Amino acid sequence: MADDCVFCKIVAGEIPATAVYQDDETFAFADLNPQAPTHVLVVPKQHFTDIVELSRDAKAAAAMLNGIRATAEASGLTEFRSVFNTGAEAGQSVFHVHAHVLGGRPMGWPPG
Ligand code: 5GP
Ligand code: ZN
Repeated sequence: MADDCVFCKIVAGEIPATAVYQDDETFAFADLNPQAPTHVLVVPKQHFTDIVELSRDAKAAAAMLNGIRATAEASGLTEFRSVFNTGAEAGQSVFHVHAHVLGGRPMGWPPG
């Protein structure tokens, strides 16, 4: 667990969250500030800063993809958007890697 990491605290149960899916390696919970009818965050239980760091661990990276699929299934979504913001300029505000899984409405492109 990284010091003062809000998502490590959610995984540890120290901050409440609405769980959507979990397995041995991943945890998925509803975003506090939803941007779509379904907006779920999928995180590895182990702390990685971002997708760059996560990608160097093949087992954890595969578990993350599995967690995204399972979260979409648990949410009843067959069509959805997955987003990894990487770095502050790209919109990352919590530096524990997370996939946004968004669905339930048409999505525009390009993203803002
Ligand atoms: P980012 O901007 O890093 O890509 O996304 C961070 C997301 O985490 C935001 O969508 C924000 O609403 C969500 N978030 C931040 N703090 C909390 C929290 O304590 N609980 C939950 N459920 N979501 C959070
Ligand atoms: Zn963390």
